[in-house]
Amino acid sequence: MISQRVHQALNEQIAYEFHASFVYLSMAAYFDTQNLPGFARWMRVQSEEEMKHAMKFFDFILDRNAKVSLQALPQPPVDFASAEEVFQKALEHEQKVTGLINRIYQMAVEDNDYPTQVMLHWFIEEQVEEEKNVGQVLETVKMAENRAWSLLILDRQMGQREDEH
Ligand code: MG
Repeated sequence: MISQRVHQALNEQIAYEFHASFVYLSMAAYFDTQNLPGFARWMRVQSEEEMKHAMKFFDFILDRNAKVSLQALPQPPVDFASAEEVFQKALEHEQKVTGLINRIYQMAVEDNDYPTQVMLHWFIEEQVEEEKNVGQVLETVKMAENRAWSLLILDRQMGQREDEH
């Protein structure tokens, strides 16, 4: 049996992952309007990945014979000042998600919920990757931003991101 608080936290996590998907989709739209299609593509792929994260929690709750309750999503930010600001926000968002995942893991340990712990191992690894990737892009954007051509070269590179899992 899944404890009530872990069950609730997993349902909340579905919403956080969909919210992340919305945030990245909004960032994709911003980059598109800035004529940076490579960054826009990178963000679209990122957005799709977050939707898959949400569905992993969705499926896991159902697999445990528990009830899924979807929640309202907050509006994502719609205005951004620069590519640097976008990636700064993205990094902060990922750091927040890491904290949320770690919190559920801690609850699962305290409640002797082994299946949830095992499921979360994937997410714990994933968050290390996410923070690393977004942090690297942020640093590169900072280096490129004051030189338009550097940002354009970076845009082409970002556009090569392939669809993931
Ligand atoms: Mg995620």
